[in-house]
Amino acid sequence: MNTSSSSSLTSELWKACKAEEDAAALIPITDPDSFQELARSVGRNCWRYASGDCYLIVDEVTAASLAELEAFSSVAEQVLVMGRPPEAWADADNVREYPHESTIAKEDERLLLLLSPLHSVAMFYANAGTDGRVSGGWKGGWTCRQDHVWRLGRLLGKQAGGLWPEAMEAAPPAQTDASLGLATELMAHHVEVLTRQRRDAAVDKGDLYCVLEILKAISARRRSHDILFVFVEKIAQIVGIDRCSVVRLWGGSEMGHVLASHEDSQVYNLLIDIRKYPELQHVLHTGSKVVVNDVQNDPIVGEFAAELAAAEIASLLVIPIVLHDENVGSLFLRAARRKGVFSDREINFCEIVAEAAANALERAHLFESIQRANERLEYLAVTDGLTGLYNHRHIRERLDEEFERAQRYHLPLSCLILDIDNFKQINDTWGHLQGDYILRELARRITATVRKSDIIARYGGEEFIVLLPQTGVEGAKVEAERLLRHVNGKAFEGMPEGQRVTVSIGVAVLDHEKMTTSEAMIRVGDKALYDAKRLGKNRVVVGTS
Ligand code: GH3
Ligand code: MG
Ligand code: MG
Repeated sequence: MNTSSSSSLTSELWKACKAEEDAAALIPITDPDSFQELARSVGRNCWRYASGDCYLIVDEVTAASLAELEAFSSVAEQVLVMGRPPEAWADADNVREYPHESTIAKEDERLLLLLSPLHSVAMFYANAGTDGRVSGGWKGGWTCRQDHVWRLGRLLGKQAGGLWPEAMEAAPPAQTDASLGLATELMAHHVEVLTRQRRDAAVDKGDLYCVLEILKAISARRRSHDILFVFVEKIAQIVGIDRCSVVRLWGGSEMGHVLASHEDSQVYNLLIDIRKYPELQHVLHTGSKVVVNDVQNDPIVGEFAAELAAAEIASLLVIPIVLHDENVGSLFLRAARRKGVFSDREINFCEIVAEAAANALERAHLFESIQRANERLEYLAVTDGLTGLYNHRHIRERLDEEFERAQRYHLPLSCLILDIDNFKQINDTWGHLQGDYILRELARRITATVRKSDIIARYGGEEFIVLLPQTGVEGAKVEAERLLRHVNGKAFEGMPEGQRVTVSIGVAVLDHEKMTTSEAMIRVGDKALYDAKRLGKNRVVVGTS
């Protein structure tokens, strides 16, 4: 980019305009789009007046982007392009590169100057924001005043040296009807551009409110599916879409999943065959959005046009929802309309919202995986690895809680302490693996026997505890006897029919008067278990406090 302030032609033009008394004749151009529109209007109108004594100076970007200027360039006496002339003009004898090394910055400056005895126009624009070459916030302007344009033309002509005709040094021609006509047309066009810009700004503001509304709704959700549903629901409602869904695709697979559909909040992980959705295949292939505004004639849709017509779909839009997590596959917003096309504004809107949804989804995924990890940690912290029952630490906590509750509300509470009989010998005879199996199978048998409200834990090596809330001595005895039968009633796999595994059970029942701590209950249970062993094992003994 040209950064020297003295070499900018647009700033020289601007200075020249300010120096002139008639600087006010310059009509402001405040953005590059307006410049482009007005230059197009000049191109469209001027070929009608173009004659052999026309001169044109134009920057290369404007020259290349306006096909309208091509017709004009073919008749003009001289065309000077600041930069490289467009290829289509390359062979024309009258087209040259503007010779002076001081030219304009390609990205930030535009210039079009047309001189002829009948009508002339000068318009230029510079982005004041980038290097401050143009002071006071001014961006650009245009004029159709013959004398004004000619003065600016001479300024540029001086820099162009021999390429600029001497005729230009003469006094500027008088204002003609043709030049007034051009000025009027340009003015009318300019008003139209400004009106449209104002309308677009209003629409943009409306869109902004809608985006905010969707963001608010999305941010309030923590679960991925809720986010996706709100996303499709709001888009369908605000943009006016007949079918709106989020689809998950995996590279290399012919199947995909609909993760959310605005038509039904219950839809989740609905399997679809993406071979029937050419627009999805296309987007999976290219990775960028797909807009099909005329399903009947779009090559993307091809042979599926009839099916889409049968489904009453007129236009389709698929937008990637970019997540930085490979494990979730690729997500896409798919929108279909029965009538009408998708405008650039609507597509833009959907893209902005899709990006916001992607961010919310990533947060939700993070949240969900942290939650899953926490749940797992919590599970591990309270669980015995071999049997899946609660572990010692957890059952002590639960026992304290149940003990306190039973004391406070004067409720019954019992606990059974089970110990496998002769387990050392079983290990020695059948091996530790068989011993482990017995521990697991015993845990399963206990779980299957007791009530849902009872709490079971592996208390230590081959000892188990069953906590029986709201249960007094009679209930505890019945349950202990039932357990005894369910353990020894059937041989364990890997051991002969006659070799039964048995347990001894000590029963402790809460004595509201005598027991002040949960340890007292455990002591009574332990003592009862010891008595059961002493009395010959495979039996229940109810302890006394
Ligand atoms: P009693 O009838 O008096 O209870 O005799 P016992 O042999 O069952 O009791 P003892 O306390 O002498 O032995 C308990 C055995 O339990 C010793 C130990 O190796 C075994 N044991 C403890 N934890 C495990 C385990 O996780 N897996 C296996 N296979 N054995 C275990
Ligand atoms: Mg033991
Ligand atoms: Mg034992």
